[in-house]
Amino acid sequence: TDTIPHWLTKRAHLTPNRVAIVFEGDEITFQQLKEKSLEKAYLLASLGVREGSHVAVLSQNSLEFTYILHGLTYLGAIAVPLNTRLTKQEISYQINDAECLHFIYEDSFKEFAERVKQDCLIVRSASFAQLNELEPLKHGTKEELKLQDTSTIIYTSGTTGFPKGVVLTYGNHWWSAIGSALNLGIGERDKWSASLPLFHVGGLAILVRSLVYGMTVHLHRKFDAEEVHHEIMHKGVTMVSVVSVMLDKLLTLQGEDRYPDSFRCMLLGGGPAPRPLLQRAKERHVPVFQTYGMTETASQIVTLSAEDTLRKLGSAGKPLFQAQIKIVSDEREAAPEEVGEIHVKGPSVTSGYFKQWQANNDKFQDGWLATGDLGYLDEDGYLYVLDRRSDLIISGGENVYPAEIESTLNAHPAVRESGVIGVPHEEWGQVPVAFIVVDQVITEEELLEFSIERLAKYKVPHAIHTIQSLPRNASNKLVRRELVHLWEERK
Ligand code: AMP
Ligand code: MG
Ligand code: MG
Repeated sequence: TDTIPHWLTKRAHLTPNRVAIVFEGDEITFQQLKEKSLEKAYLLASLGVREGSHVAVLSQNSLEFTYILHGLTYLGAIAVPLNTRLTKQEISYQINDAECLHFIYEDSFKEFAERVKQDCLIVRSASFAQLNELEPLKHGTKEELKLQDTSTIIYTSGTTGFPKGVVLTYGNHWWSAIGSALNLGIGERDKWSASLPLFHVGGLAILVRSLVYGMTVHLHRKFDAEEVHHEIMHKGVTMVSVVSVMLDKLLTLQGEDRYPDSFRCMLLGGGPAPRPLLQRAKERHVPVFQTYGMTETASQIVTLSAEDTLRKLGSAGKPLFQAQIKIVSDEREAAPEEVGEIHVKGPSVTSGYFKQWQANNDKFQDGWLATGDLGYLDEDGYLYVLDRRSDLIISGGENVYPAEIESTLNAHPAVRESGVIGVPHEEWGQVPVAFIVVDQVITEEELLEFSIERLAKYKVPHAIHTIQSLPRNASNKLVRRELVHLWEERK
């Protein structure tokens, strides 16, 4: 029970000659993908990776990265993909927290990786080139996958300021792919364009769908609006995964062009979508499917079909076939239109965070995950995600939690306390801005430099304002609303 043939072996057996991945002019068939991934498995085995090993991987999107991800599945090892935008300190934290003893990285990160390793308990590490120079070890590889086995651990930031490792099983990924297919269908000629990073679940999920559906992926190192526009217009790409910044750029570039009728889905996720953007997409006949999902749900779990886009403007849609959602307010299920916390359930939902007993105990009950997101269901059961809890900032699709920035700023000896808010930004949707109370005089530049060393660029505050005291309520909680007023006054 709960065992399926290895999904890449199966796919290579079913459609060996079909193109699996197009990347920077190269085309790789499923048969080639299987062979390359098995080669990587033997090289990883030679590095000491075994069943159950936790392996940190740091890379931008590339063919090598996909071979390594699939190679790890052949060994039954667990991939811990790392966000390439993070600082040394952030990466070391994740590697240590995930108990990775192996670390593989793209060659361009070599110097960075050397510094990371100094802070980690890494036993063996290798750049992609170094890995390829090893003597392959013909270690036994998996012919089957057990759906309950862990496949990946992906870190996601949280309200506490420390990111948590979301444990995703093969079953979580499998059900996510099935749920998407049951909703969007599988077209004989589907080609899915992937510019989202593979270290985020939104990117990784496309690789799984490719295997399960037998579908070609157009993989990109990073998002380039012109390339994506070109492949929609001329290369038969039918589906594209985007966050709202990307959709905005694509629409701007579209000009007088009209996408071919075969183009059928712009899957929009990662955060809220501004209504004018959805309106623009509709006017330009671009079929946008808005989704709600998170790392914890192995990507989309609620999706709005294009035909409902205007009728239900701003909604994230209905839960996928295998999924359930409910809104909880005051510990009971909310009525339609009543706002509460969004709870999700289903086989694509993680069973928990790695080693986070407290969070796992607090957030899961009877298979339901309390997401921390606020929203409501309308009379027809469509989900509306509210302008989210006041603390979460989404900047260019990346989540930023004020707590993480605040604890970094507070660690500076001159800073007594700090408060961070998200403010609107033309390009990124939102960016963080900090307010600090100081014990000693410190310049904004000094503190920015301190932040840049410790925080990924998208988390570094765009401005740091010194104030006399932070606005707090009677129970001494920071009132971010007041900071927003302060910021508006200073604009
Ligand atoms: P991540 O784990 O990085 O994928 O981030 C997931 C979070 O993004 C969710 O918990 C939400 O806070 C936010 N998010 C995702 N989809 C939407 C949406 N359609 N509307 C508003 N917020 C969203
Ligand atoms: Mg999250
Ligand atoms: Mg996100």
